[in-house]
Amino acid sequence: MLRTAWDGPLAPAEPRQAGLYAETMNVHSTDLRAALARIVGEPHVLDVPASSPYNHDATIAGGLRGQARLAVRPGSTAEVSEVVKALYALGVPIVPRGGGSGLAGGAVPSPGSVVCSLERMTAVRELSPRTWRMEVEAGLSTAHVHRLARENGLLFPPDPGASEQSQIGGNVATNAGGPHAFKYGATRDWVTGIEAVIAGGEIVRLGGACRKDVGGYDLRALLIGSEGTLGVITAVSLRLIPAPRAAVALVAFLEDQARGCEAILDVLACGIVPAAVDFLDAFTLRCAAGGYPGEVPQQARFALLIEVDGEGEEVRAQQRELREVLDDRCVLLDQPTPRELWRWRDGINGVVAGVRGGKVGEDVVVPVERLADLLEGFAAIASAGGLDSCAWGHGADGNVHANVLMDPGSERDRRAVGRVGDELLDLVVRMGGAISGEHGLGLIKSGQLSRQWGAAALRLHAQAKQMFDPQGLFNPGKKLP
Ligand SMILES: Cc1cc2nc3c(=O)[nH]c(=O)nc-3n(C[C@H](O)[C@H](O)[C@H](O)COP(=O)(O)OP(=O)(O)OC[C@H]3O[C@@H](n4cnc5c(N)ncnc54)[C@H](O)[C@@H]3O)c2cc1C
Repeated sequence: MLRTAWDGPLAPAEPRQAGLYAETMNVHSTDLRAALARIVGEPHVLDVPASSPYNHDATIAGGLRGQARLAVRPGSTAEVSEVVKALYALGVPIVPRGGGSGLAGGAVPSPGSVVCSLERMTAVRELSPRTWRMEVEAGLSTAHVHRLARENGLLFPPDPGASEQSQIGGNVATNAGGPHAFKYGATRDWVTGIEAVIAGGEIVRLGGACRKDVGGYDLRALLIGSEGTLGVITAVSLRLIPAPRAAVALVAFLEDQARGCEAILDVLACGIVPAAVDFLDAFTLRCAAGGYPGEVPQQARFALLIEVDGEGEEVRAQQRELREVLDDRCVLLDQPTPRELWRWRDGINGVVAGVRGGKVGEDVVVPVERLADLLEGFAAIASAGGLDSCAWGHGADGNVHANVLMDPGSERDRRAVGRVGDELLDLVVRMGGAISGEHGLGLIKSGQLSRQWGAAALRLHAQAKQMFDPQGLFNPGKKLP
């Protein structure tokens, strides 16, 4: 069963992890603290009580909490290197941490681990508007990266929802997507170089400022989406593009889900490449209606959130064409500003989490023509489990955030949530889909890749981990079984 909800500290479940835990406990905490303080300075080695934010990420909405021993906040790549060297020598697990906005429990610390938080590493090493690129340290917030690009007439397109909280290193480590991934791709498509600290504290540079580089195996690609299991990303080189001159948003409110999913396919078929085509199902729409910058029609049961961007005239022409595709099947075709639209959209996760006090979200993806079947199947699975559910996501990518609402204090809910998650992943794989579209596997789906991948692919995957992290000390228990 999936580890979709916890209300207590993580217990060392696997024998290998249990061994690791016992071993690291032999390292006396005072010695460990002193060793780390010598590297980063006393104020940057922190105790991590159960309630500490370092013990959880955004999966706290489902009750998931870890059990770190200490948190350390290095201020430079050299310090990260020394920290990893010391921890690796002592056999202590290391949990790289960005902004803690992850939705897969990737930054939730395993028992006895040391959290390595990148929050102090926010330097902008290079910003070159003329050549459309920047190099920044991993701890810079995603929103800051966006602002820097924007102030210079440029765009860094990946836009995961919690951009004020998440860090660019965390985005790279999860290969974050977001609404605009449909047109512009996910974080992976914008990273030309990575600096990271790997086993034993060695600093490795993979790629750099060049836009093309094909000489070696693509080791950089392995670190992208590695969820802290291969090393600590300390800096990234990013590719930017000139900001589009114009953007318009459309919100199509429809009477039912089937019609809404059909409309997504028709939008794709008309040949326009919208920057984003997100959707909200009926339950989500009901919860979020109060925050909409306008009137949500009573009879609306599905909404499409569309943005087109580009040159002024081109955008107006695309808007006209989209109106023609959507007009006669909608109960309302509204036009908030893109800013109003995404501010509303970004608040939805929090609004839904508040309905029953907690929620657990799965992030799955299917070929876009199976979207309607997936939404229907998910609602049926959740309802059979006695749980309220809702879904929203990046419709044109077939990427669904499938959420079940729960009371984090209810044992019954927690068991039901695990079963619903299991059945949902089975369904997704049967539809030719993937078990995570953008949040990663983290802790909640650790080891689940075998549902989707064959033995040979899994073996190569395990060998890549072994190659970067022979002692298995980077974020143990995440991603891999
Ligand atoms: C309201 C809300 C909306 C969201 N919307 C989206 C969305 O649209 N698209 C999307 O993809 N995600 C979304 N997310 C999820 C989350 O914001 C992303 O996964 C984000 O990339 C996590 O970044 P972080 O810095 O917070 O990482 P954390 O949560 O701190 O860590 C995530 C993982 O990355 C690893 N990690 C972090 N930093 C480093 C580093 N420097 N080196 C190595 N490993 C590291 C951690 O060990 C962990 O496994 C959303 C989350 C919330 C709460």
